[in-house]
Amino acid sequence: MISEDEARRRILQGIRPLPPRRISLACALNCFAAEDYLARLPLPGFDNSAMDGYAVIASSYAPGRLKIIGEQPAGVDRRLRISAGEAVRIFTGAPVPAGADAIVMQEDVTREGEEILINAEVTVADYIRRRGCDLAVGQKVVTRGECIRPTVLALLASQGLAELMVGGEVDVAILSTGDELIRVGEQIQAGQIYESNSVLLRALLQRIGATVRSSEHCSDQQEALRDAIQRGIAQQILVISGGVSVGQHDLVKSTLQSLGGEIDIWRVAIKPGKPFLFGRVGDCAVFGLPGNPVSAFVTCLQFVRPAVLKMMGASADELELEKFVARLAVDVKNDGDRVHYLRGKLTDGNFTPVGRQESHALFGLSQSNALLRLAPGLELKSGASVSVEIWD
Ligand code: AMP
Ligand code: MG
Repeated sequence: MISEDEARRRILQGIRPLPPRRISLACALNCFAAEDYLARLPLPGFDNSAMDGYAVIASSYAPGRLKIIGEQPAGVDRRLRISAGEAVRIFTGAPVPAGADAIVMQEDVTREGEEILINAEVTVADYIRRRGCDLAVGQKVVTRGECIRPTVLALLASQGLAELMVGGEVDVAILSTGDELIRVGEQIQAGQIYESNSVLLRALLQRIGATVRSSEHCSDQQEALRDAIQRGIAQQILVISGGVSVGQHDLVKSTLQSLGGEIDIWRVAIKPGKPFLFGRVGDCAVFGLPGNPVSAFVTCLQFVRPAVLKMMGASADELELEKFVARLAVDVKNDGDRVHYLRGKLTDGNFTPVGRQESHALFGLSQSNALLRLAPGLELKSGASVSVEIWD
């Protein structure tokens, strides 16, 4: 049995980022930038009005009447110019006329025909958004290996980029094993259970941007398993659930070996998830997750997730789950010799373990949104400050 850290290190060591590809901006969400991108346009692109109102000269402004000499809408630059005693009717986002140094909101103005009376203090620079004040040309907008999140996508769009280079698309096959499993929609018989791991794994993997090409279910028969694995290894990653433990129906390890596969990791000091397996058959990275749903969940997040992200071109700091400092709501203790991931609920800065902390307890898992990693021997009292990993 190896440590969790050693397992992650060995997995990541063997994973290489796929060759980058060019894709349209519309498809880039959750991909990872394959190069640094620098701003080619400043933001804002030109001095513009933050309000609907009137462009004026605040520096020479004397209370009184100003003559409206024109109108400047957004979307076109009419190249207007104002002098003392004049104003331009202007709208949000419209270019500021030459000579103007402030905008007066329309709410602060009384309009009388082609003249205005200003009813408020006006200071130089009021409601003017200066060219480049948010972003300067040449400034880095995206770093290589950074995740393209919705806001980053918007920033790239603001630069006029229609396409960008991102890491390769990771194709995954999912294989759930077990004689007791049936698919949703089928009639359940005594002793059978509905197969749920493939649904969970597909959702977790799709959410990080992997492409799930196939999802199969297979019985605990060597021949059937061999065929199913052979189909699965056509993808870059094969995630198998069940059949990796020590029972006589646990055939995944021996079947992988019979196909010439190399088993790099089997059994990790992690709870839940001890029978976890990692190896390779040809070019395919194969993950064998224990069948118990919570074990499959924890090992998918801790081992499969960072490997998929690295393949997608994510930088090292993007491989970690997001962490949040919380106040522990109860006493907790890890008496065992394995790292224990407690499932809990993070609300208002408090972390409370939820449900049965057992590897089959899917309901408890469904009520949780965060994991607390407890090292072996660690004991923490209620009120302690802890760093929890959130996935929801
Ligand atoms: P195994 O790892 O194959 O020994 O399975 C451990 C436990 O997880 C057993 O109780 C299985 O019935 C259950 N299990 C295995 N695969 C799945 C699955 N795909 N969905 C739900 N439960 C499963
Ligand atoms: Mg099984």
